[in-house]
Amino acid sequence: MGLMFSGIGVSRGIAIAPAYVLRRNQPDIINQTLKKNQIPAEVRRFKLALKSARVVLQKLSDDIPKNAPEDVSSFIETHLLMLDDSLLSQRPLEIIKDQRCNAESALQIQRRELEQVFSEMEDPYIATRMDDVNHVIDQIMRELTSHNKDETPEHDWQGCVVIADDLTPADTLIMQNEGVAGFVTETGGPLSHTAILARSLGIPAIVGVHNIRDYVVSGENLILQGESGMVLAQPETYMIAEYKKQLRMLRERQRDLRKLIDTPVVTDDGVPLNLLANIEIEEDLKSLKKVNADGVGLYRTEFLYMNREDIPSEQEHYKVYSKVVRALKGAPLTIRTADLGADKEVETQASGPLAHNPAMGLRGIRLCLSDTSLIVPQLQAILRASTKGPINIMFPMLTNVYEVSQCLELLETVKARLLKKKIKFDKNIKVGGMIEVPAAAIAADLFARKLDFLSIGTNDLIQYTLAIDRIDDEVNYLYDPLNPAVLQLIKNTIDAGKKADIPVTLCGEMAGDPRLVRVLIGLGLTDFSMPPNSLLEIKRALNNSNVKKLQKLTNALISSSTQQEQQKIMKKINAGL
Ligand code: PEP
Ligand code: MG
Repeated sequence: MGLMFSGIGVSRGIAIAPAYVLRRNQPDIINQTLKKNQIPAEVRRFKLALKSARVVLQKLSDDIPKNAPEDVSSFIETHLLMLDDSLLSQRPLEIIKDQRCNAESALQIQRRELEQVFSEMEDPYIATRMDDVNHVIDQIMRELTSHNKDETPEHDWQGCVVIADDLTPADTLIMQNEGVAGFVTETGGPLSHTAILARSLGIPAIVGVHNIRDYVVSGENLILQGESGMVLAQPETYMIAEYKKQLRMLRERQRDLRKLIDTPVVTDDGVPLNLLANIEIEEDLKSLKKVNADGVGLYRTEFLYMNREDIPSEQEHYKVYSKVVRALKGAPLTIRTADLGADKEVETQASGPLAHNPAMGLRGIRLCLSDTSLIVPQLQAILRASTKGPINIMFPMLTNVYEVSQCLELLETVKARLLKKKIKFDKNIKVGGMIEVPAAAIAADLFARKLDFLSIGTNDLIQYTLAIDRIDDEVNYLYDPLNPAVLQLIKNTIDAGKKADIPVTLCGEMAGDPRLVRVLIGLGLTDFSMPPNSLLEIKRALNNSNVKKLQKLTNALISSSTQQEQQKIMKKINAGL
């Protein structure tokens, strides 16, 4: 019987592959069984590591300035005392001898034993002292592994399920290039960019599996089921066979959906719908072609800024946008200007010292307006590429209409510069804004008067409306797209667009969730933009819907006062799915 873990499934699919446990800032622990004659050398190695750790800690203690607060020095003194405690200095030696394992494994075993003891302590203060113990253990571990670091290949994770504390979107891109089979993280939420990217790249993924790295070692066989958020370590043969069967069924389902590629999307009562795709990297174009999307409703350009130390030049932007718009062969391309910061942090970000609350800090359009060098080359490139096909410009994270005015003025300046240089661009290029801050959704009328189109970003809109960090798995249970306040804000924005006679798209993950799209139809939405991988499933969910019926049901949903009532209405909304 294997070990089962559960977390939040963020990207569907099944992976049956060996684990690759990633420990950043902490060396990988390689477990080894020793021959009897290797034990004395291993004991010596552990003692040497203890000695080196003491030297490091003693130096730290000696270097503390005289005027430093007393608790700083007592903190280091405590660590030095812990190093001498038999639980850390003697017990691992016994484990090496008794279990014939290498020093790293012995120390890790002892770490788990101590964690168990500390977690059972009633005094909460003493219980949290485990942090100090871990600190000392990490120091010894670093000394132990500092010599064999080079023997561990840095990213030998091809074909593996990567297990990490957390991953950045940039890591996800590297992993895709290097052919990982899936990933599991200890923290993170389903709306993080890492999760969004995993969905878009079709990498099965699970987040929020706390402490999994303490139980799984590299090389061990795993089954990962993205939909349910389940990870199975050391599965029995019959389980592997069962999941292989499920994998085959999944592929069959995808083949079935592919039959819908050329079917137009019209509701039962004849309302035509637009299904657009969200893209982030060039590879997404391949997935987009496979589903025959009506165009791109959201091109996230932050990825051009990732895994590098400088800002992309105008020419780099231009090359990519020209290529993408040409590949779309006349279908519209909405390019969102850089939405850097918070969950899309990049090395070059000019946001100064680390913000306490990045999601509410200098991110998105705020950052770009405070340092226009981040966005001017991009705007110039978008304008230049607009001669190659229909392009729209979209500004992210708008909070008030003054920001809209600033963006429009900046765009006019860039246009004037191009005109002066006699560089061609589409003079009628449409300019839209993302409605993803509650303030903007409430005042959507004002935004609709200044812009050519609106696009609702529910990932952020829900985060800010419900005060839930979209990348924090601890509060994920509160992330409720059906909260009446969220639905009202979406409706208000759609109504504002209708009143001003401008298009409104919804490009948050909600548009790609088959359980939620019919609610959006009920709110009056006709333009959806989603990860290409979800498009055919959404098509199936929308093709058999009836706008009039859904409007009534959605109104009832907004005013439902109990969870049971909400569930009952949702059942009716999704009837036949
Ligand atoms: C959103 O917030 O819904 C959105 C589409 O933007 P992003 O996820 O890139 O922040
Ligand atoms: Mg957003």
